[in-house]
Amino acid sequence: MHSKLVAGNWKMNGRLVSNEALLTDMLPALPQGVDVALCVPFPYLAQVSALLRGSRVIIGAQDVSEHADGAFTGQVSAGMLGDFGCACVIVGHSERRARGERDEDVAAKAATALASGITPIVCVGETLDERERGEVEQVLVRQLDALDQRIGAQDVSRLVLAYEPVWAIGTGRAASAEQVAQVLALVRRWCVERTGPDARTRILYGGSVKADSAGWLFGIDDADGVLVGGASLVADEFVAICRAAALAGRAV
Ligand code: PEP
Repeated sequence: MHSKLVAGNWKMNGRLVSNEALLTDMLPALPQGVDVALCVPFPYLAQVSALLRGSRVIIGAQDVSEHADGAFTGQVSAGMLGDFGCACVIVGHSERRARGERDEDVAAKAATALASGITPIVCVGETLDERERGEVEQVLVRQLDALDQRIGAQDVSRLVLAYEPVWAIGTGRAASAEQVAQVLALVRRWCVERTGPDARTRILYGGSVKADSAGWLFGIDDADGVLVGGASLVADEFVAICRAAALAGRAV
C-alpha cells in the first residue's frame, strides 16, 4: 500500500506574485508521508516548477492535447508538459466535459500522456440529473470503459482515477461518506476486473474537499487520496488536508 495522494487543481487561478506567496507559506508546512501534486495553469509551469525544486511535491497540468505535435493552435502536447517537468496531468475534468469533451477524447488524452510517461489523473463522475435518474453506475462504467478501450487493460494500473461527482465540484456540497464509499468501491471493482486483485490503480475522491472532510474521506477503504480544487489555493487548508492524508497513510 503506498502513501495517500493529495492533488491540488488550481484551475484558472494564480498570478506570479500570488503563486510565490502561496508556495512560500505552503511548502515548509507540508508533512512527510504523503504524495503531493499541484496541477497549475500552463503559463505558470516554469515558475512553479522552479519554486518546487528541492521539495517532494510534483507538478502537473490541467489538460493535454491528444496530438503529439502540429497544427493544433492553442493546444499543449504531452511532450511540452514533459519539458517542464510535469509528472501528471488532469484529463476529463467535468469543467471540460461540460464544454464538449467526450469520453473518447478523454481516453485519447490519457493515452497520449501515458505514452510520454506522464500519469493521467482521469476525472469521472455523474451530474446531479444522472444521479437522480439512478444512472450513477451506468455513467461511471461508460466513462471508464472508454478508457479501457483506448489504453487496454494492462495500462489501467498506470492511471489515477478521480471520482468527482459534478454536483459536488466547487459547490461546497461534498458527497456523503456512503455515496463516496459506494462509487469508489464500484471503481475499484472495475479496476480489479481488468488488472487482477493486486490492482495498483490509485483512486481519488474530489468535490469540495476541505480540511474538515479530509479525515472521514481518508477513512474510506478505497480512497487512495483526494483531488482538491478551491482548498488547494489556501495554504492552511491544503496543508491540513495533507496532514490528514499523512496520518491516514501511517494508519494502514
Ligand atoms: C476540482 O476542481 O477538481 C474540485 C474538486 O474542485 P473543488 O474542490 O473546489 O470542489
